[in-house]
Amino acid sequence: MMQDTTKKVAIVTGGGSGLGLAVATRFIKAGIHTIIVGRDTEKLNTAKTALGNLCYTAVCDLSDLTAIPPLVDDIIATHGQIDILVNNAGINMKKEFTEVTDEEFQRIIHTNLNAVFTISREVVKHMLHAGKGSIIHISSMAAQYGLPKVIAYSASKTAIDGMTRAMAVELSPKGIRVNAVAPGFIYTAMTDKALNSDPERKAKVFGRTPMGHMGQPEDIGEAVYFLASDAAKYITGVVLPVDGGNSIGF
Ligand code: NAD
Repeated sequence: MMQDTTKKVAIVTGGGSGLGLAVATRFIKAGIHTIIVGRDTEKLNTAKTALGNLCYTAVCDLSDLTAIPPLVDDIIATHGQIDILVNNAGINMKKEFTEVTDEEFQRIIHTNLNAVFTISREVVKHMLHAGKGSIIHISSMAAQYGLPKVIAYSASKTAIDGMTRAMAVELSPKGIRVNAVAPGFIYTAMTDKALNSDPERKAKVFGRTPMGHMGQPEDIGEAVYFLASDAAKYITGVVLPVDGGNSIGF
């Protein structure tokens, strides 16, 4: 199918809530046709109602790797192209190192890393045909420094940073830019609850965040939009912290 150069099509995994929803909101504001992928039909439909006509939903459990090639094929059949892929879907688990079972470790790695590889590979096949594209992974502070009690999550996000660089060197000569955004402590219902239930951790977070406050999901939306846009056309292989200085805080 011929590419329509007047339109842009983006996939945002986990786009029905949290940071993914903020990214989808920013893309739609810019007129980008945005497919939000998630497991929960109701959550996706609520997001679509809020986001309007440029928002499309696709129900898929990305941890089922066999479901990914047909998902990408369906999107190409419907939209004709994929210009942007945002690998945002992710899961976490807080547990003492020795309490984590092999199954739990693998479950986190599977969603946060294996599924990101599989969907990226399938989307890149189409981007190579077009000779262009932009991929943005969502990393974490857990890959910038050592965080206790999130062993599998830290391993998965550190691997994402390595994959960002490896994909960038291989794919950038072919017109596909690959970058990551590493959110710091961003205000969502989940982080608010987690920090309020752990005053010591909260004090530590703010103690090493030079800007002295948490970020908003919109801050991630803006950073991802920038990296996806032509304004970032000479940027590839970077992991951009969006963290109020948390990663360089003393
Ligand atoms: P969230 O739980 O609100 O969003 C994650 C989304 O991914 C959800 O919509 C969920 O349904 C979806 N998802 C999870 N597993 C999936 C699967 N197997 N198939 C399809 N969809 C799946 O959390 P969030 O805080 O918005 O996190 C989004 C991303 O940002 C994650 O990768 C997370 O690791 C990263 N992150 C968040 C923060 C933060 O402060 N919120 C900080 C650092 C990194």
